[in-house]
Amino acid sequence: MLLVARTVAVVVVVVLAGHPHTVEAKIGTFWHVTDFHYDLNYTTSGDPKRMCWDTRFSSGSVGEFGDYDCDAPFPLLTSAVDAMKKFDGEPDFILWTGDDTAHVSNDYFSTEVVVNIVTNLTNLIASRFPNTPVFPVLGNHDYYPKNQMPVGPNRLQSEVADLWRKWFQQLQGHGDVYNSFHSSGRYAADVPGSNVTMVALNTLIWYKSNNETALLPDTTSDGLDPDGQFTWADSLLKDLAKKNRRVYLVGHIPPGTFERYQQKRKGFHWYQPRYNDRFTQLVQQHAHVIEAQFFAHHHTDSFRLFFEEEKNQEQRIPVSYQLLSPGVTPWRSTLSEETGANNPGIRLVHYNTTTGKSRKLRLASHFHDTPLSLVNQNHAIRTSLHVPQVVDVSTYYLNLSAANLEGRAEWHLEYNFSSTYNLKSVSPVALYEVAKTMKANRTLFDLYYRANTVGLEDPEKCTEKCRLLHWCAITEINYSRFYDCNNGVRLSWRAALGVVASVLVLVVR
Ligand SMILES: [Zn+2]
Ligand SMILES: [Zn+2]
Repeated sequence: MLLVARTVAVVVVVVLAGHPHTVEAKIGTFWHVTDFHYDLNYTTSGDPKRMCWDTRFSSGSVGEFGDYDCDAPFPLLTSAVDAMKKFDGEPDFILWTGDDTAHVSNDYFSTEVVVNIVTNLTNLIASRFPNTPVFPVLGNHDYYPKNQMPVGPNRLQSEVADLWRKWFQQLQGHGDVYNSFHSSGRYAADVPGSNVTMVALNTLIWYKSNNETALLPDTTSDGLDPDGQFTWADSLLKDLAKKNRRVYLVGHIPPGTFERYQQKRKGFHWYQPRYNDRFTQLVQQHAHVIEAQFFAHHHTDSFRLFFEEEKNQEQRIPVSYQLLSPGVTPWRSTLSEETGANNPGIRLVHYNTTTGKSRKLRLASHFHDTPLSLVNQNHAIRTSLHVPQVVDVSTYYLNLSAANLEGRAEWHLEYNFSSTYNLKSVSPVALYEVAKTMKANRTLFDLYYRANTVGLEDPEKCTEKCRLLHWCAITEINYSRFYDCNNGVRLSWRAALGVVASVLVLVVR
């Protein structure tokens, strides 16, 4: 049964120069799928100690559709793509954000094996969605040796570019999409029939585990901006703003701090600090053109908020948000015990395809869900200048234990942002209100927390320390601010200390 209407026309009342007007907003859909982590060696028979590639596995039996201690067998991946087809078989496009291979030692891998796995998954998606535009990027596991993607052209990127050539050739790029991906792993291309431009980043070169860039001195332009990606994005975003495009910034590894790692108060992050700071600046400078951000890599379901450059902690102005999509692999992370496993998840985003042209129009307040009284006046005016692009987010999931017991993979709707978070649309301000409510209200936090592992973990497991960690990860992209937040240090104290230090410096002089 097709549960999701393909394209819905929504009538929006807007106020232009004080007079109400009616415009039609076309609501389209796209799938965001990620972190398939295909385990080629998965088997339900044979040596009970070697049923999947993860050598920690020891229970002696695994189910047909996967195991929480293993990466994904092909029947699970097939069921995920079949579920996409079932719930919305004609999306406007598919965003596929990488990590195709299993979490195993480099000893089992080679460039050929990685390309073979990417080929298998490409064929799987193309077989179910032969005419759908696909916007793919690579994950840190899609390189041999893993995480070590060098800057610039390389054999793996070149072979994958050829594999994806048909998809790239369908896209209307800002620059040639194939050549751009081939040489740098990044590209920008328009979503057909909309005002949205996808800016697909190669985040692997900012990863702290990537020695190819981590060891570059930060005194050189290469070290500060590998392959000139920040410079490229800065100039591209300026150009797209002039063209009145709305941007979805997408990639595999997100900035900020992981929300499920409690071993150290400073948390666990992925980008090198210098790239985390530059990414934040890029978003702050171009927040007016970046409509939304879609990232992955965590395998868990969460979101992140970016604020206008900080001036006053009590009046923070959220300017951009990033949605982190859950993975298809159920694999229990080795990072730490509390990181855990997850149920397989896929995500359908409902978005407004036509809002670019209405940016100058002012929304009637009844359409906008944001409690505008809660934000400052300037920001209220700015956020009302266009209809928020993303109107809802639906996550579908597989209860893996039940699927194995029943012998069939029946995917279901897990939750919608609209009903769970009571949102009419998704915006930085609206999500900030959700985050603040979750901080104050355990009931809403528990709904978020259950979704965090795609319905696997009981929210009661999350202590107040765990809950604070989620709040800090969501609201503090900056590493030192995250540390302060997670240690209960209020910024006003930091500011006070700064003032004391300045006075001392003046006295000493
Ligand atoms: Zn992954
Ligand atoms: Zn990853």
